[in-house]
Amino acid sequence: MTNQTDKITQVEVKLLKVPLAKPVSDAKVIMGKQTPLTHVWLTTATIKTEAGYEGYGYVYCKRNGGTAQYALAKEMAPLLIGEDPNDISRLWDKLLWSCISIGNSGVAVQGITPFDIALWDIKAKRANLSVSKLVGQRKDRVPCYNTTGGFLQDSIEEVIEHAHKVLEAGVGGIKIKVGQKDFMQDVKRVKALRKAIGDDVAIMVDANQQWDVSTALKAGRYLDEFNLVWLEEPVKAHDYKGHGRLSRSLETPIATGEMLTSFREGLPYFEERAFDVCQLDMPRIGGLTPFLNVLERCDENDLVLAPHYSMELHLPVTAMYGNDAWVEHFEWFEQVDLFNEKSVLDNGFMVVSDRLGFGLSFNETTVTKLLEDSSVIN
Ligand SMILES: [Mg+2]
Repeated sequence: MTNQTDKITQVEVKLLKVPLAKPVSDAKVIMGKQTPLTHVWLTTATIKTEAGYEGYGYVYCKRNGGTAQYALAKEMAPLLIGEDPNDISRLWDKLLWSCISIGNSGVAVQGITPFDIALWDIKAKRANLSVSKLVGQRKDRVPCYNTTGGFLQDSIEEVIEHAHKVLEAGVGGIKIKVGQKDFMQDVKRVKALRKAIGDDVAIMVDANQQWDVSTALKAGRYLDEFNLVWLEEPVKAHDYKGHGRLSRSLETPIATGEMLTSFREGLPYFEERAFDVCQLDMPRIGGLTPFLNVLERCDENDLVLAPHYSMELHLPVTAMYGNDAWVEHFEWFEQVDLFNEKSVLDNGFMVVSDRLGFGLSFNETTVTKLLEDSSVIN
């Protein structure tokens, strides 16, 4: 047996600003709470080891907070130098304890995310496996649905046109935004989309937290007739009791969890069975280490798993999951060639890659173009 201990010799963190091809608006914008989204912040990490391994990870942020994630990651990076990259759980704890006075969720764990992902990337590469094979793969393809064409700034005709385009490209479902004050406007859009793409295509809708429970109940009863795969974030993200009530009252499954920023914030949702579809987001809760707990809880409760965003990172974890799962297809990173690798769509599914680790590497030309700041620690 070879001794597989190793040592972290270099950590590099970068702050990137990824522009969107066009600004997008969900119900939060329509209700006047936010301005249209124009870019996504990324903090990336590259970890190098004495034995010659190199791991990559990232965390993202929409709107304000991206520079805070980066600042914290930069402060944490020196704590990894000289450590054994195999000890991921111990290093996760070490990084969290280093910033515990700012809490144990949100930015505190999101500063850890790029390192956690990079360390799992290294662990899988050392084992000569993909991440999903390392942890235990169950599927070689996962159904995927597209979100980018369903925002509220677009007319329903534009939404339908985009839907046809991505369905043809191999996506298996279409999500559109709802959550307007006059929910009958949303019902009309859903009806038109259903008519245009037919009864067999999966449709999801997302209210982005903009209804109260009684409005969501009323809207949900209209939406129940369209055989939707789920109704997402009908009410405020932290209202697990409201989500639970809707889940018990409506036929359409209730999805939520993307705004939760630690595994522990998700616990009441599991305990109350407040959702049918769990959307906890690996980068937002601190990486793969805490996400393994999410997989276990989802499995115990026989939930559908549909992690929010970050299709590149969520494809391997949905491939590990035994019950139904979905990957959320976003073209944003591919449009700017952020990674050297591209997703592979096939007849409604995203194909799980057998590349080593997470199977991702940053395209250096793009990184140079989008770079806002960087720091190397040896
Ligand atoms: Mg959403």
